[in-house]
Amino acid sequence: MQKNQSALVLHSGGQDSTTCLFWALKHFEEVRTLCITYGQRHSQEVTIAQKIAKEANVPFQLLDATLISRLAQNALTNPDMEMDQEQPAGSYPNTFVPGRNLFFLTSAAVVARSHGIKNIVIGVSQADYSGYPDCRDTFIRSANATLNLAMDEQFIIHTPLMWLNKAEVWALSDRLGVLNIVKKNTLTCYNGIPAEGCGHCPACKLRNAGLNEYEKNKSKYE
Ligand code: ZN
Repeated sequence: MQKNQSALVLHSGGQDSTTCLFWALKHFEEVRTLCITYGQRHSQEVTIAQKIAKEANVPFQLLDATLISRLAQNALTNPDMEMDQEQPAGSYPNTFVPGRNLFFLTSAAVVARSHGIKNIVIGVSQADYSGYPDCRDTFIRSANATLNLAMDEQFIIHTPLMWLNKAEVWALSDRLGVLNIVKKNTLTCYNGIPAEGCGHCPACKLRNAGLNEYEKNKSKYE
């Protein structure tokens, strides 16, 4: 694709963004990561993201954005809140952090610009998740246009997972030759347990169901 270009990957150390990191390494000459903290319950996400970046031999940059968790309450940052296991009728689960991806993309664009980078990679998907509005393709296109206007730049936001369900994300990591790295080294679990996680939080259920489906029906995903 853009082998002579560079890319900035928004990386949290989870399955999706780690798959995106290796996707970017395949498609771009130079890659760097930006890890944004926003007061998540589990600070080891940062340690894990840093370790993965080191092993992938890419620069790691950390940005503290805990102000996001001070703007409004959500279950990812407030340990006193019980996480919604299902999506409540007519609303979003309390794991939704309003404005997060807009904030992340804005920060990523500013950092990318300072390094002369035009490509920004984010691991959002609208196929198989809780339907968060800021994971949708229309939002990403709109944010891309806005950031270009805001900074008079020609950023391209890449969303390699946009139309993939979880099993297909596993298939992609397998095609990239990093299935085991993603399986063993990432942290997706809302309870902060790496690899296969606690098994019962919404993030674990989605991740593990996708992996089971992929491993059972591999030939379907070739
Ligand atoms: Zn879990």
